[in-house]
Amino acid sequence: MIIDLRSDTVTLPSSEMKEAMFNAKVGDDVFQDDEAVNELESLGAKMFGKEAAIYCPSGTMTNQIGIKIHANAPGEIICDELSHVYKYEGGGIGFNSGLATKLIKGTAGQLTAEQIEAAINPDDVHFPETQLVSLENTCNKGGGTIYELENLKEIKTLCANKGLKLHLDGARVFNAIVEADYTAQDIGEQFDTISICLSKGLGAPVGSLLLGTTTDIKKARRIRKLFGGGMRQAGYIAAAGSYALENNINRLTEDHLRAKALGEALTGLSYVKEVSPIITNIVIFEIIESIDFNSIIQKLADQNIKVVPFGPQQIRLVTHLNFTDEMLEQTIKTLKSLS
Ligand SMILES: *Cc1c(COP(=O)(O)O)cnc(C)c1O
Repeated sequence: MIIDLRSDTVTLPSSEMKEAMFNAKVGDDVFQDDEAVNELESLGAKMFGKEAAIYCPSGTMTNQIGIKIHANAPGEIICDELSHVYKYEGGGIGFNSGLATKLIKGTAGQLTAEQIEAAINPDDVHFPETQLVSLENTCNKGGGTIYELENLKEIKTLCANKGLKLHLDGARVFNAIVEADYTAQDIGEQFDTISICLSKGLGAPVGSLLLGTTTDIKKARRIRKLFGGGMRQAGYIAAAGSYALENNINRLTEDHLRAKALGEALTGLSYVKEVSPIITNIVIFEIIESIDFNSIIQKLADQNIKVVPFGPQQIRLVTHLNFTDEMLEQTIKTLKSLS
């Protein structure tokens, strides 16, 4: 048995999902003729109360398109220093949109309206014009942290007052929604555009959606083509996305329970210095200084448990729909045996 905790992107489609893919009604999506793609786009938009959506090959593409439709060179985007849009998208903010980036040190990847307000540039020729704010919910690098709705509402009000656009990197927004006291509609109301990943915890093999107004998504369609993301009979993979939205959201709570169980097992082990609070499906823990953390990663790999390094002495485990209770038990046993 191989236990893969490197990411929630490693999930494989179930036979029911494959059946949905096999039966997809497809066409040429660049002509918007693909029924399965159209269905997925309207399903995603409706869930968040948005007018329209566009299906793209990756969450990097939906984020980068979201940024590009709202902001232009030589403007500036504000985001947390742990943001995926900044750290893990290859410098796309500068390359694709020609923007400067104002990084804020938030709390576990989360910003407050006050912090954002202080980061907005004054109307002065020396400074790039602040045009856009991007938030991440849940925040991957922050350890799967969840924004409170009150906080998001304050940020939305600030952005509206200052004439700034607000984008959400919602790669794992459903992990937030199943835990928090808000709905997808509540989230939809706070943001101009939202990127959601279908290939993370939701378990589809490929794809992300960008949600927004009809006008914004029309612009997005032009940019998707420009980025080389216009696909043809994409309905075969989009059908997996619809299946995921219809069947795999509520079960995310199981992933969260298993993540908590891993965190509890890790707490107090001789080689573990600290376990970050476990809020959703991400477990980050730190190894004591006297042990090379790569040796722990190797020992786990020797026992067929795959994990990733996540910073100095830090290891990340991510639970997902192919991580079963049997695997949980085996992982806990192995983690304890290294003590
Ligand atoms: C995975 C992820 C993305 C998108 O990644 P792709 O691999 O391009 O689909 C965006 N934001 C966050 C926070 C992610 O974890």
